[in-house]
Amino acid sequence: MTNKNRTVPCFTVSIIMQDIKELSLKELEDKLLCWGSPKYYAKGIFNWIYQKGAYEFNRMSDLPAALRKALAMEFSILGLELADLEQSSDGTAKFLFALKDKNLVEAVSIPAARRVTGCISSQVGCKFGCNFCASALKGFKRNLTSGEILDEVLYLKNNASGGHPALSEEPVRASAQQLSHIVFMGTGEPLDNYENVLKAIRIINSAHGFNIGARRITISTCGIIPGIERLALENLQIELSISLHAAVDKTRSQIMPVNQKYPLEALIKCCHEYIAKTNRQITFEYILIKGFNSNLSSAQNLVKLLKDLRLAKVNLIPANSIPELKIIPPEISEIVSFRDYLFGAGINVTLRKERGQDIDAACGQLRLRHEEK
Ligand code: SF4
Repeated sequence: MTNKNRTVPCFTVSIIMQDIKELSLKELEDKLLCWGSPKYYAKGIFNWIYQKGAYEFNRMSDLPAALRKALAMEFSILGLELADLEQSSDGTAKFLFALKDKNLVEAVSIPAARRVTGCISSQVGCKFGCNFCASALKGFKRNLTSGEILDEVLYLKNNASGGHPALSEEPVRASAQQLSHIVFMGTGEPLDNYENVLKAIRIINSAHGFNIGARRITISTCGIIPGIERLALENLQIELSISLHAAVDKTRSQIMPVNQKYPLEALIKCCHEYIAKTNRQITFEYILIKGFNSNLSSAQNLVKLLKDLRLAKVNLIPANSIPELKIIPPEISEIVSFRDYLFGAGINVTLRKERGQDIDAACGQLRLRHEEK
């Protein structure tokens, strides 16, 4: 293939193949033009990968054989391998993936009546050290690339719809469901890996990519103010969720060291600005931990903190028991009283139904157990 119009070199001798999912549609079109191929093939390649779930170029039967060969010489598609799997009796499945450099990340698939939510990781480990979270126990290793983030989505999509083309292993769970929602709530802080997460989200959302609606994609952050400010300018309709877990600085700093850098007053001010710019609701995640943040006075503090936010919702989450961290959930009666107090004070509140409790679906636990072997 030749290129008469450009001076950039088109062919590279690759020892390590490039992940094709690192390329946006425009970047892939440019690559094809550089090779002398029509750029419209890029949409076909996207369709094969993100809609049909192809893991190999030789399955792309409507592409010319020479192009398939050139793609296979330069690019890889799936860069992870399944290292372990735990399945809950409620259908929740937790996947442990080995990346090319042997680092491990987790993703969780949570089926409901007509939808499957994929909970995915954005980093290997985490530097923010929330002390209710097993993800941070081994510290931070590295950011995931956009292609590695998309690997998780691709694997979960194929798993949800019942098949892994070109993998020798049988699908672990066949179903007629479709992956419909993505939440960045696995290992890592997505706003600490901003560029790669946003690049992945654009492909997850794109009509030529996974075609998952922006309102079905959630970024969950521990409260990185510069990241929230940047996100407010993206003109994306994605959901923002903030891990709050306490409504006074002293208590929050005890379990979330990030609060010392981004304390509550500054965080809530930033939330006001985010809502003013985007007109989007923010969900505040609040893990109820027995003996720590689940009594009436904690509920009163929470109401005081959020009462002036125009578009806010509180999602109460009874803590997953994490024996290593001595975290246990409150009794049901205390959970219900906390919820009812918020509701009575006019706060939009939901109580999350726990999923996957029999497999410790909280992030980081499966990886931790593997790394300790
Ligand atoms: S909760 Fe999120 S930000 Fe906090 S340590 Fe775990 S992965 Fe990191």
